[in-house]
Amino acid sequence: MTTDARMRARLLATSFVGTLAMGGVTLAMTAPEPAEAVPVAPVVEEVAPPEPPRFADVVHTISKGETLGAILPRYGVTAIQGVVDAASEHTDLTNIRAGRDLVFTYERDVPHAVALRYALDEDTTLVLDLTGDAPASSLDVIEYEVATGTRALDVDGSLWNAAIDAGLRPADIVRLSEVFQWEVDFNTELRAGARFTLVGEELHTEGSFVRLGDLHAVRLENDGDVYTAVQYEQADGTLGWYHPDGTASKRPFLRSPLEYSRVSSKFNLKRYHPVLKSARPHYGTDFAAGSGTPVRATGDGKVVYASTNGGHGKYVKLDHAGPYTTSYSHLSKIAVKNGSQVKQGDLIGYVGSTGLSTGPHLHYEFRVNGKAVDAMNVDLPNVEPLPESEMAGFAQVRDHWLPQLDGGKDSGMAVVDAE
Ligand SMILES: [Zn+2]
Repeated sequence: MTTDARMRARLLATSFVGTLAMGGVTLAMTAPEPAEAVPVAPVVEEVAPPEPPRFADVVHTISKGETLGAILPRYGVTAIQGVVDAASEHTDLTNIRAGRDLVFTYERDVPHAVALRYALDEDTTLVLDLTGDAPASSLDVIEYEVATGTRALDVDGSLWNAAIDAGLRPADIVRLSEVFQWEVDFNTELRAGARFTLVGEELHTEGSFVRLGDLHAVRLENDGDVYTAVQYEQADGTLGWYHPDGTASKRPFLRSPLEYSRVSSKFNLKRYHPVLKSARPHYGTDFAAGSGTPVRATGDGKVVYASTNGGHGKYVKLDHAGPYTTSYSHLSKIAVKNGSQVKQGDLIGYVGSTGLSTGPHLHYEFRVNGKAVDAMNVDLPNVEPLPESEMAGFAQVRDHWLPQLDGGKDSGMAVVDAE
């Protein structure tokens, strides 16, 4: 067979592999074995037409408000309660989430889907066998090979890009930034040239890196400052990040109420107002963010105001332990009730532009004994360090992992491969 004929045969085979998208439904076909050459005269080989694939998957992306009862019959599955019952030991399928996928598998000559797959988390998929009289369920769990590795990420643009370039996933990036979220505001304080080094479990399947597992130690070098933290589990099961001296990396306050954003106007007691042509202090920090961006409580506390408040628009004020209060202005929507308790990181509302505001942003105030201070620069109080009884155990864990952080650093590579 000539190279040309081979190429044509390959192209023909390729045309069977394809994705057919119709509305929210994507039909993915598995390729048959590449057909042998389609011969040009003279005929030298008999070629059977390719068999259609025996199994094909149809992906249904759940839209808002869609129920299982509405979706299943469209794929020929009528035993709706049977499916819910079979799944119930693993998950509640009456509570399916918009945006997630249901994957229906069809078998040739069978008029209804023969299997349904629904991912419960990134490693676990619920599988429903629909071939028998009653649906049956099982879990498909990815088994990883686990290795300990050291990686370094050089941040030139954003942490996000550096991590993606290093093969990490968005969820890994969030976990990394969470280690130092009390000390560094990643929206505003991460400088070009910053470097993350981490020691942790690296999860592989068939020899290739998939994602990070548990992290053991992380270091951030940023703008001349070095932050180091080691994860440690206390005897009572409390898991936390600690500095090498045993003080907690956690603080009673997050630096920023938004996960990703930028500061558009700083705290400034002498701000000159361009319109009023006079000093008009800015008692808070403005974060530019799209309308609807979730706003987090920066610390544990009690909601003491959750309503409209003049120029502040929709406004939430929290009273925290000690002399501290925080407030959040111009919200599009308030997500808490006056008098309720919130935990650090809880959703309290969404960014908006209500009240005296020219566009969507969050005006955030941090007050000590009622006096406004710069939330981005105030020295935040510490939480309790490790108790004396834990120090020996902590020292052992610390001294095991910290040298490995240095090992990663010395390599001078952007990514130190664990393989
Ligand atoms: Zn403001």
